[in-house]
Order: sequence, then structure tokens, then C-alpha cells
Amino acid sequence: MAIRSIVKHPDPVLREKAITVTKFNANLHKLLDDMADTMYDADGVGLAAPQVGISKRVIVMDCGDGLIEMVNPEIIAHEGEQFDYPEGCLSIPGLRGDVRRHKWVKLRAQDRDGNVFEMEADDLLSRCAQHEIDHLNGVLFIDIADRVYQVKPGEEE
Ligand code: ZN
Repeated sequence: MAIRSIVKHPDPVLREKAITVTKFNANLHKLLDDMADTMYDADGVGLAAPQVGISKRVIVMDCGDGLIEMVNPEIIAHEGEQFDYPEGCLSIPGLRGDVRRHKWVKLRAQDRDGNVFEMEADDLLSRCAQHEIDHLNGVLFIDIADRVYQVKPGEEE
């Protein structure tokens, strides 16, 4: 496992549409391991492969209930709305935004061995999943936020 460097906006890789993973091999496992290491090292709750310069449809998340790995994730159902949580991004340090997100989502993805699974997420995990899946489509939170603002010095968590 290794910590990779996090790509910062406006690197063009963050604007690419990431490609679907078709090989569930050692390279993918190494990428997933490194992404988790990198996310935890940066105190993040989610990370998408384009953020480490790899334009593939892979995300990792941990909103406090353990590591979740998703390959080729998609939102297959959603309900409600939430907009009361300041959203940030490891690729855009120092900024936060008010972003409207679905309150609840149902996700379908593959695990590191290619097995398809579904899971439901609400509140922070739902927001995180939507944010990370946006990364796979070249979308950043600053594109869709109602309001973007600077984090005051010392407030960066
Ligand atoms: Zn992000």
C-alpha cells in the first residue's frame, strides 16, 4: 500500500469522463489499496480515482462506518433533498460549497473482484457517493454549488 499524490484543480484529469473498469486484477487491487491509504492520510471521507490521476470508474469512501470500495458505481434510485452540509473536496483545498444533493440514494457497483452489489446510503454517505460519482463524470462541487466560499484559516478540518 502506498500514499499517492492528490491531483488538484484545475488539472485536466479531473475533467475527463472516467472509463469503465473491465479488468478486476492486481492493478485494480493496488489502486484501491492506495486510494484508501491516500484518503485516510488526507483525513478525507471519499476519494475518486481521477483524484490520484487515474481516469477509471473507481471510488472509495469512509464516512465513519468502515471502508467502502466501489468499482463502476451508479445511482439507480434517489429520494429527497439535502443542502445543509458544507461540502469540500481534497482536490480543491480551502473551499467549501452549499450543494443540493439527494438525501437518499440506492447504488449499484462492483466490488474489487467484479461481483455486483447494491447498497443504500443516506445523509453524509449519500452526499459523499454523489460527490465521488460526479468526479467520474468530470464534475466538481464548485460547478454545481449554490454558493462557494473560502474556509477561514484554522477552520480547515
Ligand atoms: Zn472531491
